[in-house]
Amino acid sequence: MKAHDGMYIDGAWRPAAGRDTIDVVNPADEQVIGQVPAGTVEDVDAAVRAARAAFPGWAATAPAERAARLTALRDVLAARKDEIAETVTAELGSPLAFSQTVHAGVPVLVAGSYAELAATYAFEEKVGNSTVYQEPVGVVGAITPWNYPLHQIVAKVAPALAAGCTVVLKPAEDTPLTAQLFAEAVAEAGVPAGVFNLVTGLGPVAGQALAEHPDVDLVSFTGSTAVGRRIGATAGAAVKRVALELGGKSANVILPSADLAKAVNVGVANVMSNSGQTCSAWTRMLVPAARYDEAVELAATAAAKYGDRIGPVVNAKQQARVRGYIEKGVAEGARIVAGGPESPREQGYFVSPTVFADVTPQMTIAQEEIFGPVLTILRYEDEEDALRIANGTVYGLAGAVWAGEESEAVAFARRLDTGQVDINGGRFNPLAPFGGYKQSGVGRELGTHGLSEYLQTKSLQF
Ligand code: NAP
Ligand code: MG
Repeated sequence: MKAHDGMYIDGAWRPAAGRDTIDVVNPADEQVIGQVPAGTVEDVDAAVRAARAAFPGWAATAPAERAARLTALRDVLAARKDEIAETVTAELGSPLAFSQTVHAGVPVLVAGSYAELAATYAFEEKVGNSTVYQEPVGVVGAITPWNYPLHQIVAKVAPALAAGCTVVLKPAEDTPLTAQLFAEAVAEAGVPAGVFNLVTGLGPVAGQALAEHPDVDLVSFTGSTAVGRRIGATAGAAVKRVALELGGKSANVILPSADLAKAVNVGVANVMSNSGQTCSAWTRMLVPAARYDEAVELAATAAAKYGDRIGPVVNAKQQARVRGYIEKGVAEGARIVAGGPESPREQGYFVSPTVFADVTPQMTIAQEEIFGPVLTILRYEDEEDALRIANGTVYGLAGAVWAGEESEAVAFARRLDTGQVDINGGRFNPLAPFGGYKQSGVGRELGTHGLSEYLQTKSLQF
């Protein structure tokens, strides 16, 4: 795989300050496919200085010009879709078809949505005798995870650029090649030097240096709740803006009137997709007691079909972590009806698509984020019981509700403590705000809500 041996800073690939490197590993066969530099405090500082220097110019561009650059970026991402998909497959391990449609496809939609929003958004409004201006926050430090390597980057960088902010990105150490491709795309799209900068490196070194940098005005982080909590504390101490997209343990609530087979099949597909490495995955299926056995059988059959079709998880550590959770589920008395902790292949970080029945709400596998292809099925007695179970975790990122009538599902969804709910299998909407209630995070991404994270308001009175 092609890899740059420098950092993309101030419009060029520059040698890293230090000599350490990170091996990029293909999780499907455990082979090293490339190396990227491990950024240091000096690299982060150089990138932040470039972003600061570029900020006044970029902030002053007309929204139409920023829209034009984002349109060009969307077009480059679309033109380089195959290369992007192959790179994601190589470093994340997802099957190529999924990389093409989702990992490469969704970022084109999101970049396009911000090209349009930059052109149409009201950056100025009259309120009584005031004019209120929406101004860019400044220099953004973006820290992203590996699970949707390009989407997570575009969901931060596109709105930041649309707002007039400049950016320093520290992508996940497991998926830096996709981030390097994105930097190439930004350059190709004609975004001025310094507006976007990339520093590859390790979280506790480069990531932390970026989060702590005094000249970063806003830190936008997607990743684990543990790291997010620390970043929030650091930002709070410095009184700087912070956006946190963290973990989830979402519920798929199947009400008695629902089409059970459809709800179960879509629910299993949702959890197994991307090898379960989706923060918004519906990892807890809630089924009425009267239809529990039927649902378990349907889910076991559906999961078995994924056996050979899902990719590995991202690395050996995640594989061990997921298998540890599966063993814990067994130890706490849940019943495996598909999959299990044994590795299905000799090579690669594969985990069998696993389904647990007889899961009770307090079990570890029903409370903690597993981040692997593991579904838990819980039974409920009545709607109030379902609501208690659904809301009974520290998370609140997403979820699903299924019912015979849409209105019944909507009424239930309104009582869920969560940021996004799909009704009877609703489709992905790149303009819908995405983000968490409770410990799933602070702030929203996508659409106008995502754009406003990067804006601050100034009012002038007349
Ligand atoms: P993570 O360890 O929190 O990593 C996320 C990013 O933060 C990576 O770039 C990481 O660098 C960096 N990082 C790690 N330690 C840091 C520190 N001390 N200071 C600054 N940055 C630091 O999470 P992960 O294990 O890669 O990803 C899985 C988790 O992310 C799951 O919990 C999942 O739910 C969550 N997630 C949430 C969303 C969402 O939208 N809500 C989306 C995706 C993932 P390294 O790569 O070097 O570790
Ligand atoms: Mg890797």
